[in-house]
Amino acid sequence: MPAIAYVNGKFCPIEKAVVSVEDRGFQLGDGVYEVLRTYHGRLHAVGAHLRRLFRSLDAIELKHRFTAGGLERLLRQAVRRARFKDALVYLQVTRGAAKRMKEFPQGVSPTLVITVRPMELPPPEARQRGVRVITAKDVRWLHCDVKSICQLPNVLAANKAKAAGCYEALFIASDGTVTECASANIFMVNNGVVITPPKSANILGGITREEVIALARRHRIPLRERHITLRQLLAADEVFLTGTTAEILPVVCVDNHRIADGKPGPVTQRLYALFLRHVG
Ligand code: PLP
Repeated sequence: MPAIAYVNGKFCPIEKAVVSVEDRGFQLGDGVYEVLRTYHGRLHAVGAHLRRLFRSLDAIELKHRFTAGGLERLLRQAVRRARFKDALVYLQVTRGAAKRMKEFPQGVSPTLVITVRPMELPPPEARQRGVRVITAKDVRWLHCDVKSICQLPNVLAANKAKAAGCYEALFIASDGTVTECASANIFMVNNGVVITPPKSANILGGITREEVIALARRHRIPLRERHITLRQLLAADEVFLTGTTAEILPVVCVDNHRIADGKPGPVTQRLYALFLRHVG
């Protein structure tokens, strides 16, 4: 089965999908996006993803006529057509195609693109042995809570991580606190307490992050949302990252510094078992 795309009202094979060279997403990064996945052919947490999409659309003042119900129907239709057991679903809205100008163009409709492709899971050894991350200076803007398609700092950091043989790049703010990874949120465990940076304009409010927090609360695993310095993270008992594709992935090494004994920890493993039950 080939990957499929939906562009402004039409489905087609992904390699046939096109948008205008004047699209403001292409020229200015003027748009927002969401990444969802399916489990056993069913879209996971679609309501939460669409709520975040509408918050992002509002934040960039992108006028549209989309409704949550309409987009959900479209996403379900796309997933049904693609027929992958586990699919990665990408949805992007830009301010549309118009003569290039910085200010908002008048009388232009947004461009809506959806793609559905087979899910590529992290390699099994990443889950069993844990992953290595490198740190990168957080040079992003002051609205990281908006899921903007302007991803250049994340692109550069992710590429730096890959070149270093690492799974992810962990952003460090100028005050020495850790914010999040290029495509995931960050957690640590200390004396049995799960700790993650609080929601703010400096991080994306991850859907998986929320699910992990809810699971911890439901199962009475102590959890605090508070700032974490890099120094505290390096001294943690366990570190893990969360995201739609990564799910919950143990981090065993940060910049060549081993976390505890360098093995995935028990709290991370327990949370992952609970997560699998939750999505299964
Ligand atoms: N933080 C960033 C910067 C991301 O790009 C992502 C996901 O792509 C996440 C966190 C995790 O978010 P979610 O759990 O909603 O996938």
